[in-house]
Amino acid sequence: MSTPVTLENIRSAPKVLLHDHLDGGLRPGTVVDLAREVGYTGLPTTDAAELGAWFAAAADSGSLVRYLETFAHTVGVMQTREALVRVAAEAAEDLAADGVVYAEVRYAPELFVERGMGLDEIVEAVQEGFREGERRAAEAGRRIRIGTLLCGMRQNDRAWEIANLAVRYRDAGVVGFDIAGPEAGFPPTRNLDAFEYLRRENAHFTIHAGEAFGLPSIWEAIQHCGAERLGHGVRIMDDIEVDQDGRVRLGRLAHYVRDRRIPLEMCPTSNLQTGAASSVAEHPIGLLARLRFRVTVNTDNRLMSHCTLSSEFAALVDAFGYGWGDIQWFTVNAMKSSFLGFDERLQLINDVIKPGYAALMG
Ligand SMILES: [Zn+2]
Repeated sequence: MSTPVTLENIRSAPKVLLHDHLDGGLRPGTVVDLAREVGYTGLPTTDAAELGAWFAAAADSGSLVRYLETFAHTVGVMQTREALVRVAAEAAEDLAADGVVYAEVRYAPELFVERGMGLDEIVEAVQEGFREGERRAAEAGRRIRIGTLLCGMRQNDRAWEIANLAVRYRDAGVVGFDIAGPEAGFPPTRNLDAFEYLRRENAHFTIHAGEAFGLPSIWEAIQHCGAERLGHGVRIMDDIEVDQDGRVRLGRLAHYVRDRRIPLEMCPTSNLQTGAASSVAEHPIGLLARLRFRVTVNTDNRLMSHCTLSSEFAALVDAFGYGWGDIQWFTVNAMKSSFLGFDERLQLINDVIKPGYAALMG
């Protein structure tokens, strides 16, 4: 007999997460502790529960200024080696506790240099934290593996340097690169040198594209820069027409994205907060999954969006009536699209994901 698809049972299912920001996933209590330790005085409150609610409310407010303020606080308390180790270790533990078996967690090293840390030191601290978190999760009976993505910030023009950092640390658990930050006014081609360098080095990268900005951003990311995946990519909908009878017509770019199986790292709750959709039921993920795009489900910022990968899936189950077969499909999509080696992806699919869902489907 099939296990009911409840939030609690979704937590026990093996899941894969490709789009999660380290500075968007801190525990509220950790923000409070670290602020005290590093002498950061900018927090709106030092009560952990109140602070958690404040983060969610600020992210929900529809105000970009308040949304960005949330990251000023998390980044503000992550300026020491100890802070980075702790935040990374807890991220691995929290994801493991949510049933995530493989995650790619990303961050922009250039944001953590305010108190004098060097880029290498930053990467090494985060890697140390992930390994520690994996170890603690294993002790608690949960197996998780974390791959790291390093981000360049679009507005800072350090993408080449960060891409170089990603290549230097690729044998130490850094599996890829990304660019993040404001999309409008900062097209991905501004960082073409970084992407050309990565391709020359046979390194992997994804690009935040088609979240705030439309088709030109997606087109440049794929056709000029060579992105293997799209961060969000929701605006691919601008190239899809649905007529009154429900007939669907794809434009050439949408066709290309689907034909080439280019993975879309979709983050439903986060997209609601940035205004890309007004409810989960109206989020393009429903149609895109039905059209068999290579859709994956992600958290983006667990603290700001007050979500987990399990709660994102539970919201999709409510909105679209998904069952275990659908959740498995999203999970296999994500595993296939990860930047791990092919043999490792296959091993996780065959030894962990498929048996996990087979047990749930009964
Ligand atoms: Zn993101």
